[in-house]
This record gives sequence, C-alpha cells and structure tokens, in this order.
Amino acid sequence: MEAKNRKIALAGNPNSGKTTLFNNLTGSTAHVGNWPGVTVEKRSGTYKNRKTGERIEIIDLPGIYSLSPYTSEEVISRNYILEEAPDCLINVVDATNLERNLYLTTQLLEMNVPVVIALNMSDLVRKQGDAIDAKALQEKIGVPVVEISALRGENLAHLMEVVASECEKPRKGTSVLKESKIDKLIASLEITLREKGVEHSLFHAIKLVEGDEIECEMHKDLLPMVEEFRETFRDPTFGDDFEAYVADCRYKAIARDFSPAYRRKEGSKEGAKKLSLSDRIDKVLTNRWAGIPIFIAILFVLFHLIFGTDLLYLGAMGAFGAEGLADPLAGTIWEGLFVDFGINSPGVILHNFVDIILNNLILGNISEAMSAAQVDPWAQSLICDGILGGIFAVLGFLPEILCLFLAFSILEDTGYMARVAFILDRIFRRFGITGRAFMPMIMGFGCSVPAMINTRTLATEREKTATIRVIPFFSCGAKLPILTGCAGAIAQSFGFPYVDLITVSMYIIGVVAAILMLLLMRHTTMRGEAAPFIMELPAYHLPQFKSLMIHLWDKTKHYVKKAFTIIFASTVLIWFLQSFSWNWTYIGVEETGSSILASLGQLIQPLFTPLGFGSQIGSLGWVFAVGAITGLIAKENVLGTFAVLAAMLLGGAADDYGEVESVVAMVQSTEILWPGIIAYITFNMLTIPCFAACATAKAELPKGKFRWTILFWLASSYLISSMIYLVLSWWWTLFIFLFLIALLILGIWYVNQIRDGKRTLPWRRA
Ligand code: GDP
Ligand code: MG
Repeated sequence: MEAKNRKIALAGNPNSGKTTLFNNLTGSTAHVGNWPGVTVEKRSGTYKNRKTGERIEIIDLPGIYSLSPYTSEEVISRNYILEEAPDCLINVVDATNLERNLYLTTQLLEMNVPVVIALNMSDLVRKQGDAIDAKALQEKIGVPVVEISALRGENLAHLMEVVASECEKPRKGTSVLKESKIDKLIASLEITLREKGVEHSLFHAIKLVEGDEIECEMHKDLLPMVEEFRETFRDPTFGDDFEAYVADCRYKAIARDFSPAYRRKEGSKEGAKKLSLSDRIDKVLTNRWAGIPIFIAILFVLFHLIFGTDLLYLGAMGAFGAEGLADPLAGTIWEGLFVDFGINSPGVILHNFVDIILNNLILGNISEAMSAAQVDPWAQSLICDGILGGIFAVLGFLPEILCLFLAFSILEDTGYMARVAFILDRIFRRFGITGRAFMPMIMGFGCSVPAMINTRTLATEREKTATIRVIPFFSCGAKLPILTGCAGAIAQSFGFPYVDLITVSMYIIGVVAAILMLLLMRHTTMRGEAAPFIMELPAYHLPQFKSLMIHLWDKTKHYVKKAFTIIFASTVLIWFLQSFSWNWTYIGVEETGSSILASLGQLIQPLFTPLGFGSQIGSLGWVFAVGAITGLIAKENVLGTFAVLAAMLLGGAADDYGEVESVVAMVQSTEILWPGIIAYITFNMLTIPCFAACATAKAELPKGKFRWTILFWLASSYLISSMIYLVLSWWWTLFIFLFLIALLILGIWYVNQIRDGKRTLPWRRA
C-alpha cells in the first residue's frame, strides 16, 4: 500500500523532452512544444507498472537551466523538490547537448534525493553516428544513467525499474565542488547547517556560497562566514562574489569528468555538419533585416491558403475561366464549393463543404419538415433560428479554425516560433519589451487563456500586467468567424474580393496595436527595465504527427463543447429577447423593432457613432451593438447572434443565412459602409475578451489591476476602432492622428525625463 504514495519528479532543461516522457509514462496528452517555457506549472499524472500493477505519481516540473531563483520556473521546481520531497528525481537530459544539460545535474545532485539520469534523445545521438558510454558516465556521476528515447518510447520500462530500486535507497547529496578552493568553506557551512537541523544541508551550503538571494535571506547569520573566508584568502579568481567562480567550477568538472563519455563519430568535428544546417537556416530566418518580412510573408501564405477565395490570384489575373471548373456542379447545392472569385483555397473549400452539409442539408430539411408538419411558428423559429441557426453558424468555422491552429502548431513544433520571439526581442528590448513577453503573446493567436497563464514566466509584475493586457489583441481562434464573416461580407457587398488580404491585415492590426499599447504602458504606468532574456534556440525538427493530432482533437472537443453549452444558451437567450416584446408576448418577424433586444440595442447604439456603426446606420443599426455585447460571453457568439437576427430581420428561414450571408444581411438592412465594418471587426478584436479570458486575467493579474485592465480594454478598443473608421472614411484625418500621436510621444518622453531627474520643470529651476 505504501507504494501507492510514491512520487517521482521529472526535472531538466527546457526542451529536453520532459513532457514527452511524462505523456509517454502517464498516457496523458499534455502540451508538448518545441518551445522553451511551454510547461510553466507543474503537472502530475499516474504511471502504472504493467507487471506489478504498482501506481506511481509522476510530476512534470517546468524546464530550468539552474536552481538559482531568477525565474518563477526555477523557484517552482526548486521549492517542489525541497518541500515535497519526491521519492526520486528523474533528471531528463538532452543527450545531444550533454554538457549544458549536466550543469543543472550538478546542482540536483547536491540535494539529498535519489536521482536517476535519463539520457533522452538517444535516438538522435545514434542518428548522428555518435555514442555515449552510459556506464562510464554512471561511474563518474555516481547515480544511475539510463539511455532512453521519450519520443519513441525506448527503454522506458527499464528506466522505471531503475527508478523503483533507487527509491528504496536514501541518498546523500554529492557535489562536484569537492576539489575546488572553496571546499573547506562549503564543508564548514554544511556542518553548521546540519547541526541546526536543516535538511539538504549540502545544497543550502552551496547556495549560500553562491550568494543566492533566497538562501541569504534564510540564513543571514551564516553570511559572515562566507565573507570572512573571502577576506582571508583574497584569491583573485573569486571576484566580488562566488557565483561566477562556482559556475566555472561546475563547468570545469563537467568537461573533465563527464564529457569524455560522449564519443563522437570518427572524423566528425564536434558534430559540425548537423549544427551548420540548423545554423544556415537560422542565418536566413533570423536575419536582422529579412527576419520580420519573412515572418509576415509566412503569415500571408498561411492565410492565403486558408482564407483565399482566389488561389494564387489566378482569377484576378484572368488566367482561367472560373465557369468551366464549376460547370459539372452547376445547378446543384454544391455549386460554389470550389470556385468563388477564382479557385478557392483548401481552407475555404473545407468550409463550404461543412457549411453546405450543416445549413443546406441538415437545417434545410429540418425546417421543411417542420413546416410540413405545421408546427407552431414560434417553436419553428426557436429551433431553426434560435438554436440550430446559432450553433451551426459557429460550427461552420471549425474547418478554418482547425487549419489555422494546425498551421500555428507546425510553426511552433518545428522551432520557428522560438525564432520569431528571438527576432522580436532584438528589436523591442531597448523599448522595455523582452522576447519572453512575445511567447505568451504569440500563443494568444490560439487562445488567450493559456497565453495569460504563460505570462508567469515573465520576470516582473509590471511586464506581466502589461503583457496580459495586450494578449487579447492577438486575435484568437474564436474571433476568426467575426473576421472571415465580415471580410466575406465586404467582398460580396462592396466588390473587394480579397478576403485573405483583409483577414491578414486585421491580424496585423491586432499585433501592431498590441506592440503600440505595450510600448505606451512600458513608458507610462508600467515603466521598468526589460529583464534579461536568455533563450536557447531549439533545434529545428519535423513536427510530430501524433502530437499535432492530439492538439487538433483537443481544440475540436473544446470548440464543439462550447458551441453546445455557452453558445447554445446565449443564442436561445438572444432569440427570446428578440422574439418577445416588453409585455412578454411573442412578436412575429415584422415587429422585431419592438422587441426587448431592439430597445436595449437602440439605447447603446449612439455610443458607437464615432466607430461607424452607431446612429448613422439607421434604426436597425442596433444589431451591431447587440452582437458586440453577446461577444463578451464568447466571441463566437457575435456571428451566432447575426445569424439569428438575420433570419428575423430579413425574413426567410435561418438556412438562407450562412455566416457570410448573415453579415451581408446586416449590411443590407443597415446600409453600413465598409469602414464601419472594419471598425466593427477591430472593436470586437480589441475589446474586453470572453468570460473565460477575463476570469483568467483576474486570477493572473496582481491585486487591484483587474478593474484597470477592463477599462484599458474598453478605452483602447474604442479609441483605436474610431481612429480606423475615421481614417478609412476621410483619409486626411490620418494627419490629425499622426500629429496627436507625435504630441503624445513627446509628452511622455518629456515627463519621463523629469521623472528620471534629467530635466526639471522650467518654473522649478530656480
Ligand atoms: P520539455 O520542454 O522538456 O517538456 O520538452 P518537450 O517534451 O516539450 O519536447 C521538446 C521537443 O523534443 C519536442 O519537439 C519533442 O518532440 C522532442 N523530443 C522529446 N523527446 C525526444 C526524443 O527522445 N527523441 C527525439 N528525436 N525528439 C524528442
Ligand atoms: Mg514541457
């Protein structure tokens, strides 16, 4: 029975394969990414021994390079090991990067915990033609070393056997610093600590010598011992403190004792060939000048393949006769599947396919059957317009969302996204934004919730707060329907057929707004230096099919579940508010204007006049305001709401209105202009995110910052959208805004100069 409580923790550098091992051992599907810092929190699961049936708890700790307390990952991992006392540590080591990974190992060994070293990625080592003498390494290090491949599941059963037997033997910490000049100091500190009853005395003694902040705070009384030692010996190699000296000793010990176990392939010079391929790719992709244009080009190609209705612009160039292609399907409901303005992109074809199945086939037949059976009009309307219309409008976007998500997962898995963070860090560091902040932001393209949680890796509260605030600007999957629906409507109603261009520009507007707002905050309310950002660029490698599929499946489940819960509930609510008047009677289609919803919408409609979808768009213009409000529950709702409203406003059955058609219906009934639609997208993208994201923000933000954050979202979305509307409607207003922005920048610069004491106000200079 006691075996049930056994706990094994996985510790290792970022990207060494801990989560892959964790998933393989526990059968879970945690996020694996070729991206340092994916696991911020520790995660636990159960490993079941097939032979004995024994159950062991496995804990996946965040990736770290060292046990010093500089980042929250380091603190989480360190505290876990010290306080929760796992029965054994599995130190996951990326064998292709042995020396760097063993640096952490030297620190783990100092604790009184059994350690087993898992030499991971041994498949790659073999592929390079190299070999590692695990036996020799084991002898030198003094703890078991097992070669594994977490990815291929090689040798894992053996690893767990070794771990099980190590759990039985209590272990005393060992150190590679034994032969150094500070050996005596460490020994006497250790004895003192042990006498005081401190556990892990060796570890604490060494951290004290290193001048570790947490440690010095805990054992202030022992600091004079360290100082005295330094004063007595006055060795020039020690420097101001022992931190650098200790690190140096560790690396020297690794190079002397451990590195020889790595046997390189005969004739290869330090594995130069493999390195240089990755390096050569990096020379181009992370090039100072080409880096950003390449990133934008990659984004554009992706969007073109997913949203383009004119593949390769063949239609625009008149290079093919669209009719010929569609001919065989002409007259059927499948007409328009492949051809729109030109050939459709794969993403659009998939979308059309799902759309036809959901709306034309399923919904169409249901509403026909109900008419034939002479069901009450209100019940018919509830089912077709209220429930199914809304849900199907949302489900119709599943193909695009999955395509985009797949594309981003591939970019992340290959290691490219880490490069993007690196490029952006180089540019924005001097403005107080680190590459670390870009990682959660880029995650925001998928969903704001995990992205906000990921800001825990940021060093300062200010940087964290500022980053959480701009994460929603990175348009998430749920905002996509608003984007494509509106872009499609602009294409149909205003004859600008490049849906992909509109979508990609909207994404870019989001990113630019995020960066500008971040800059604004970092120079006003959230001032502070950018913390140092050290990131290992992970090696490029092909994405793993299995992990991609796991991600996609997770996403689908999440999205479908949301469609049938939150969105179901809110579309029914909208339908109700829309179909009943204040005296609680069912009103038909014709009297929509007197519904509860209409009167609420009309109340706030004027507020949106500067944004182009307020008073100027007539008495039916309230639909846009209502859409934006339902979007606060879940962003998918905006389009779901439009589908419900469209069927009621313009009459006909809900199956006449796909998502693009429902926006077109809004355009027809309100005569809104295209700048207004663009402003509408922008407003929805930048304003308060969905409930789930708000709840996460509240949990992650420092106390008292949440209210301001809501205000920030409201104000920035309102201001930016009205700016966009005004400039698109009257281009010369651009100059006014540029002037105001310049004035603002100047003002901030001046105030900051005064704050920093570099300047004084004229009337203060005496
Ligand atoms: P973590 O940051 O330590 O949790 O690392 P992950 O588990 O997220 O893995 C980082 C990357 O290394 C992923 O792209 C994995 O697919 C890859 N990886 C993990 N283990 C192995 C292995 O044994 N062999 C190879 N070739 N790749 C691996
Ligand atoms: Mg991980």
